[in-house]
Amino acid sequence: MNIESTIKMNTGNAIYQFGLGVWRSGEATKDAVLTALKLGYRHIDAAAIYGNEEAVGEAIRESGIPREELFITTKLWNQDMRDERVMEAFETSLKKLGLDYVDLYLIHWPVKDKYIKSYKVMEEIYKSGRAKAIGVSNFKIHHLEDLLSNTEIVPAVNQMEFNPQMQDNALVEFCNDKGIVFEAWSPLGSGACLENEEIKKIGEKYNKSVAQVIIRWILQKGIVVFPKSVHKERIKENADVFDFELTNEEIELINGMNKNIRTGADPDTFTF
Ligand code: NAD
Repeated sequence: MNIESTIKMNTGNAIYQFGLGVWRSGEATKDAVLTALKLGYRHIDAAAIYGNEEAVGEAIRESGIPREELFITTKLWNQDMRDERVMEAFETSLKKLGLDYVDLYLIHWPVKDKYIKSYKVMEEIYKSGRAKAIGVSNFKIHHLEDLLSNTEIVPAVNQMEFNPQMQDNALVEFCNDKGIVFEAWSPLGSGACLENEEIKKIGEKYNKSVAQVIIRWILQKGIVVFPKSVHKERIKENADVFDFELTNEEIELINGMNKNIRTGADPDTFTF
């Protein structure tokens, strides 16, 4: 496994298993993405609501890395689903990114009574080639079952909060069974998982930080992960996870830390 390792999606295309998240990266986004790309990151997880698609696009262009070597995700925001402006929202994202296609376009949250209709527009976008894959985020099993029985294209990806204290393994299994790649958002619990003494102890054995052990744990579980940082040292540290391997016992120990505590909203009750 290395920074360019991939998982095959149901589209036939590959997704890099490791990347950079840019939620709340703000003014630092362009530098963070450029730093990451220079360090070998090739996958960026963006979203319209993060307000930094332009900065992501600038960093991509400045990096000089050929477009086909990169994997760029962005997401359709909830209000655009409510207003039924899916096509316009997608085109705005492409324009802000300065790209003529994205590698993955996701529904950000399962907006009630809107996500199926929205997904059908995304199916058209997929067929036009301007999104090489389409998928969802924050979909529980019941949302996926509803989507699968009412639309044509099986989502390539489901992106959900996943970290030591929040592990919905039934959902991971459901996605695996359906050929949907599972992506972990907030792998570090947005920072909340970083004080874990047991994980610290595992890290001492390998001379790795808590963040590195958690990232490695997610990678070894076959899940896609894109930790967020805007600091060069941490961006570097988070990618320095390919020279050690956790034992099955260590993986089991972290598996056992689930508390079903979300740092983010619950997909059944979110109000934004
Ligand atoms: P994360 O779990 O990756 O944690 C990031 C935070 O942890 C940083 O802000 C920093 O405070 C700290 N951190 C990072 N690296 C560290 C290190 N090496 N040492 C010490 N501290 C470190 O947080 P996140 O941003 O919530 O999640 C990652 C990405 O997931 C986001 O940027 C976004 O792309 C995606 N995401 C998606 C959704 C969704 O609804 N689909 C929601 C949240 C996040």
